[in-house]
Amino acid sequence: MFRSDAYIDGQWRAGARRFDVFNPATLERLAEVADCGPAETEAAIAAAHRAFPAWATKTAHERGALMRRWFELITADLDRLALAITREGGKPLKEARGEAAYGADFVDWYAEEAKRAYGRTIPANAASRRYVTIKQPIGVAAAITPWNFPMAMITRKAAPALAAGCSFIVKPPSQTPLTALILAELADRAGIPPGVFNVVTGADSAAIGKMLCESDLVRKFSFTGSTPVGKQLGAMCVGSNVKRVSLELGGNAPLIVFADADLDLAAAGAIASKFRNAGQTCVCANRLLVQDEIYDAFAVKFTEAVRNLKVGNGEAADVEIGPLIDMRAMEKVAELVDDAIEAGARALTGGVAHPAGAHFFTPTVLTNVTPDMRVNREEIFGPVAPLIRFQSEDEAIAIANDTPFGLAGYLFTQDVHRAWRVAERVETGMVSINDGVYSNAFIPFGGVKQSGFGREGGAEGLEEYLEVKYLNFGGFA
Ligand code: NAP
Repeated sequence: MFRSDAYIDGQWRAGARRFDVFNPATLERLAEVADCGPAETEAAIAAAHRAFPAWATKTAHERGALMRRWFELITADLDRLALAITREGGKPLKEARGEAAYGADFVDWYAEEAKRAYGRTIPANAASRRYVTIKQPIGVAAAITPWNFPMAMITRKAAPALAAGCSFIVKPPSQTPLTALILAELADRAGIPPGVFNVVTGADSAAIGKMLCESDLVRKFSFTGSTPVGKQLGAMCVGSNVKRVSLELGGNAPLIVFADADLDLAAAGAIASKFRNAGQTCVCANRLLVQDEIYDAFAVKFTEAVRNLKVGNGEAADVEIGPLIDMRAMEKVAELVDDAIEAGARALTGGVAHPAGAHFFTPTVLTNVTPDMRVNREEIFGPVAPLIRFQSEDEAIAIANDTPFGLAGYLFTQDVHRAWRVAERVETGMVSINDGVYSNAFIPFGGVKQSGFGREGGAEGLEEYLEVKYLNFGGFA
C-alpha cells in the first residue's frame, strides 16, 4: 500500500539504512523508509541538473499536459493519499481528504498557469531600440517541507516549479514521508521524466538540508517549517551561492472578534481555524482576541462547541480531533497551558491530556488570558484556545501586532469599514474576514516579518520559480 524507498532519477532507491515511521495515534510502526545520506542527495541533485535542460525547453503546453495527467492520477488515488496522511500525520480522515484535494488543486491549477508566464514589452526611450522581458525557469529547485501537511506543502512547491520548467527535489519530513512517495509513484506513472521530480527521504535532515542549500547546482530553495530552522537554511543559501529562497515559517495568528460580529459565525469560524489538524497548522488562530461587551457570551458559545469536539484516532469516521504529532509536542502544549494557569488563566474546558492515547490533548479553552502570557506570545501548535479581552479597536490591533510573526489574521465584524481599517493595519500576509478557512491553490499564501517571505499559490507562486530577463534590441534605423 505504501512505498518506502526514495525516488531519485526515476528509480526507487533503498538507501544503505532505513528509519521507522510511526502512526501518532496508535504508535504502531507503519514502515521502514530509505534513510538517504550524502550519496543519494548528490545523486538527486545530479539527476535534477541533468533533467533540467530538456524539461525547461518543453513548451508550457507539453509540461502542462504531463502535469494534468499527474493530477488525474492523484485525483483517482485520493483515498490512498488521505489514508497515508491520516496514518502518518494523525489528522482525521475527512481533513486528510480535504488536504489531498487541496494538494491536487495545485497540480491542476499550475498545469494551466504555466501557459501564462508572460513577459512585458516596455516602451523605449530611443527610436533605435526595443525593450522586452522574458521569463525563464530558475534551474534546479529544492524544497524541505513539514509534517503537518504531508501532501499539500509538497505540491504547493512542486507544481509551480514544474510548471515554470524547473526540475525539483523534495526532502519530506522524516515523520511523514509516505505521502510524498505516493506522489512520486503517481508522477512516475504520469510520465514525468526521470530526474524532474525527486523525493529524498532521510532522518538526517540537517545533513541533507546543508547539501541542498549549499550546492552550486541547486538554484532555488523553498522551505516550509519552523522559523529557527528557516533562518538557518536561508542564511546558508544566501551565504553559499546567493540562491533564490522562499521561506514559509511559523505563525502566531490573531483571531479578533468585535462586539458587532455575528457571534454564531465567529464561534464557528474560530472552531474551524483553531482546531484544524488539532491546532497544528501555521495559520491556526493562535489566540482569540474578544471585545469586552461580548467576551462572556462568546466564551459560553465557543466553549460549548469545543466540548462537543470528538477526539480519537482519525481513521474513525466521526473523529474531529486527532493526536499531536509526538511527545515533544504534547510536552510543549502542556507547558504552555500550565504556564497560563499559573499566571492566572482558567480552563473553561480541557487543560489536560486526553485518555485516547499518549499523543492526545483535550481541546482546551482558556479564559482570563493576558497578552504577557506565553500562550499569546508563542506558537502553541495544539488544540488550545486562549481568550484575551480587549476594549478598543486600537488595543486589539496593538495586541495582534505585538509579535515577531505575521502569517495569518482573522477578523469577525459586520462593519465593512472596520473590516477594511483593521485588515490594513494588521501586520500579516493574509487576513480572513468573517471566515475561519481561506486557503486554496489560487491565492497568494505567505507571511511577513519572521513568518517568512515569498508567496505560494496563485500567479505569485509561479514567479518564485522564474527569473526575469531583460532584452534590449538596438540598431533600429
Ligand atoms: P521544523 O522542525 O522546522 O521541520 C520542518 C522541516 O525541516 C522538516 O522536513 C524537518 O525534517 C526539516 N528540518 C528540521 N531541522 C532541520 C535542519 N537543521 N536542517 C534541514 N532541515 C531541517 O518544523 P515542523 O515542526 O516540522 O513544522 C512546524 C512548523 O512549520 C510550525 O512553526 C509551522 O507554523 C510551520 N509551518 C509553516 C507553514 C507556512 O506556510 N508558513 C506551513 C506549515 C507549517 P525532519 O522532520 O526530518 O527533521
